[in-house]
Amino acid sequence: MEKIRIVIAGPRGRMGQEAVKMVHETNSFELVGVIDRKKEHSNLNELEGFTGISAPIYVEMENCLVETKPDVLIDLTSPETGMFHTRLALNHGVRPVVGTTGFSNEDLLELEQLCEKSGLGCIIAPNFAVGAILMMKFSQMAAKYFDDVEIIELHHDQKLDAPSGTAIKTADMISKVRPSKEQGHPNEKETHMGARGANIDGMRIHSVRLPGLIAHQQVMFGADGQTLSIRHDSFNRASFMSGVKLSVEQVMKLDVLVYGLENILE
Ligand code: NAP
Repeated sequence: MEKIRIVIAGPRGRMGQEAVKMVHETNSFELVGVIDRKKEHSNLNELEGFTGISAPIYVEMENCLVETKPDVLIDLTSPETGMFHTRLALNHGVRPVVGTTGFSNEDLLELEQLCEKSGLGCIIAPNFAVGAILMMKFSQMAAKYFDDVEIIELHHDQKLDAPSGTAIKTADMISKVRPSKEQGHPNEKETHMGARGANIDGMRIHSVRLPGLIAHQQVMFGADGQTLSIRHDSFNRASFMSGVKLSVEQVMKLDVLVYGLENILE
């Protein structure tokens, strides 16, 4: 069986380093290039922490795609760069697997149309941890019975977007089964701006940013005399890699955009 040829954007990043390791250790995958804007060396194996992992380093995505002819791009960068890379990959016949968070609804619509036009698959997953997907699904189940819910998402303090993609996705999934509702007292007033968090369809989302955290989320439901909390914790970034691996395998069989790992889990 031919190996799946992969390019990774953001290999020096916290997620990127884990992805490089995962691709290197997977027999059916081949790392054919990486995108690193710093490009202090010409090959990844010259960089600290990547001894024995050989892949040419490129600064420009377009150049990399033309020269390495990958099947899949794994993007783990930042929202603007991620969108630029994903668009470029689809225009070059390469299937993107995107872990980068912070894409807007307009971005997703544009990429959906690009996939339709090119007949290529693309997977965008705000959370690659299987446990986090189950947390979202369980929350959607609970929301049928509890329509008062608040989401508390907790991440490390280097995260660029808030609320997290996972929190937004959870709220969207809950909105599909929960009648629209403004929560809290109708006359409540914030004496300090932001105290009640972001508002998605009346649900409140609170974003905690602290060093020491990785990625955590608690979905709290309340009703008369009872609360229910559903919580997931990622304690390291390796927890995301089984989802990235599965996405690379699945994207090869797709010809549309899939948003969310839950849509490819059986
Ligand atoms: P990080 O440690 O800051 O790494 C980001 C990497 O992207 C850095 O190496 C950075 O390079 C590179 N980069 C940024 N802009 C670039 C550009 N214009 N060209 C080339 N490289 C560029 O961040 P992280 O924690 O790995 O997270 C990366 C993304 O994944 C974020 O969007 C985060 O929210 C998301 N994430 C997703 C999941 C999931 O399960 N889907 C889980 C965790 C995180 P420099 O060092 O040069 O800046």
